[in-house]
Amino acid sequence: MDDLTYQWPDGKKIAVSISFDFDGESPYLWKTHKTRPSTLGELEQRRFGPRQGIYRILEMLSRWEQPATFFVPGFIADKYPQAVEKIAEQGHEIALHGYLHERVDELNEEEIEETVIRAKASLGKFTGPKDLGYRSPSWEMTEAAFKVLQRHHVLYDSSLMGYDHPYWVDGLPEIPVQWLLDDAIFYRYTASGSSSCPPQNPANVIDLWKQEFNGMKRFGGLFLITMHPWMSGRASRLDALEQLISHLKRDPAVWWGTCADIAAYHSVKYADRFREKIVFDFG
Ligand SMILES: [Zn+2]
Repeated sequence: MDDLTYQWPDGKKIAVSISFDFDGESPYLWKTHKTRPSTLGELEQRRFGPRQGIYRILEMLSRWEQPATFFVPGFIADKYPQAVEKIAEQGHEIALHGYLHERVDELNEEEIEETVIRAKASLGKFTGPKDLGYRSPSWEMTEAAFKVLQRHHVLYDSSLMGYDHPYWVDGLPEIPVQWLLDDAIFYRYTASGSSSCPPQNPANVIDLWKQEFNGMKRFGGLFLITMHPWMSGRASRLDALEQLISHLKRDPAVWWGTCADIAAYHSVKYADRFREKIVFDFG
């Protein structure tokens, strides 16, 4: 094994982590906070997540005894406490995802800090007083956001794609995502919304994810999937996700971890490696 190959615990070839961005209607409320529309369509479509999708997902995960990481906007924790209580009760990781799913590139440093403080207070009702991980809403990050995360002792960021295994950005563990492993690019369809796509066949999505998993196993990467209960909580998609979990569970090459587990492992094992700084090379 060469020195560039990331090594996982117990000689495992790949790490698998399952994450959900429990957004519900919060991105829509953020997007429309200046001009409130009077239409109900997308609001109700998204509310399916916290009303029904989340409970179906939790039931499926508990049958497989599969821990996951839930990135929860503070607003969702305040509005749907029963759902977040259940996530906590089942022992899943709960992590930060803005207050109202604010895009950090639309806020200054002080405003980002307000969202983190407010979201920590909301999630703290379920997690107790402890440091949490973070994923930025819409996977955009800024230098100011990194400063705020450091000041608030956030455990890791999970928003960027600079490697396909954990690395560091300005001293914070980065647990990398990727668009290919995000359900939104396949399932997000809203009649009125932008960045909609025709819903894909879940069997094809799972097939694609399996191919990425197989490829990544050769390179020792992190297979971190990101799903949204308002999209992946729908019947056929949940079914397909369960098939994927069943497939992955049979593979002895997998090291399973929540995002916090992975960040903790990375911090010890690779304290001095894969360190990157925030750099803008605009020439
Ligand atoms: Zn989100």
